[in-house]
Amino acid sequence: MSGAPPGGSAAGAAPFILGLDIGGTKLAAGVAGEDGRVLSREVIPARTEEGPEAMIARLVELGRRVLAASGVSPAAIAATGISCGGPLDIRDGIVREPTNLPGWIDIPLVSRLTDDFADVLERKPVYLENDANAAAMAEHRYGAGRGVRNLVYLTISTGIGGGVIVSDRVVEGESGNAAEIGHMSLCHDGWACPCGSRGCLEAFASGTNIARRARERLAGGQPSSLSALSPEAVTAREVAAAARAGDPLACAVWDETVAVLGAGVGSIINLFNPRLVILGGGVTAVGDQLIEPVRRIALERAFSSMAAEADVVIAELGTDIGIVGAVAAAQARLAEQA
Ligand SMILES: [Zn+2]
Repeated sequence: MSGAPPGGSAAGAAPFILGLDIGGTKLAAGVAGEDGRVLSREVIPARTEEGPEAMIARLVELGRRVLAASGVSPAAIAATGISCGGPLDIRDGIVREPTNLPGWIDIPLVSRLTDDFADVLERKPVYLENDANAAAMAEHRYGAGRGVRNLVYLTISTGIGGGVIVSDRVVEGESGNAAEIGHMSLCHDGWACPCGSRGCLEAFASGTNIARRARERLAGGQPSSLSALSPEAVTAREVAAAARAGDPLACAVWDETVAVLGAGVGSIINLFNPRLVILGGGVTAVGDQLIEPVRRIALERAFSSMAAEADVVIAELGTDIGIVGAVAAAQARLAEQA
């Protein structure tokens, strides 16, 4: 795009997107241009206990504030993108019943937001996207996956989500919920998962479950530096720090975690033959302590021909990923309909 000031002379091209991110802990909004640069952003607590009506009202106010703060003329906004946890129906614009958003049952979010922004955005298109698929699209367009045609994005935080890009397009599935990689069952009779299955990657290796496994070992009486903490203070970050310091309990939990993640990523390489597997989410903040063993194990486990073409890297977009994901998803849908 040109170096034109936001809004103003670029209005004819309408290259800007309002991005909205709905999560279980926070709501975020931002405005970005074709280069993915976020011009204005704001994040507020989600307060899911208030239910969908109050949350949507606050999201709309948030969207209006970031629009005003961006300096972009509403006429230059081409579309609104929404990144939200699944399950949802991206074609009908309906949020079905995400586990992290209690009370959000069959909410027609796209038509709601089209109405609620009608006075400023003149009923321009609103697009809904599964949050992990949106994040994969963001890393593909603007992050670690720039120029890569085939990649898999995995977010490892409270849960584990995924998105798959094949030949530069996100794999959606029938309703936009494809690539629930966290619920790939690695052990048919393994640990129970809230999704109803057993042995899921998420139920073992998400941040929440890394901490849970450490707490279970502590409760079993194994000695550890972590026993100085209250059970609630034992987080994946604390486990990683204790493992770096050589604590045997923490090392055992961490070694199991990277072994299972490595096996999972190896399977992903065999399934999709990607150039890159990009790991994002809060747990990846530890950097090499996670990525190095996961890469080594994954590449050892995958078919050698596919391993030779693949790499495992850390995501680039950081805390803006939700907003940039919503923006990238809207850009992709606009391009699809052009
Ligand atoms: Zn599961």
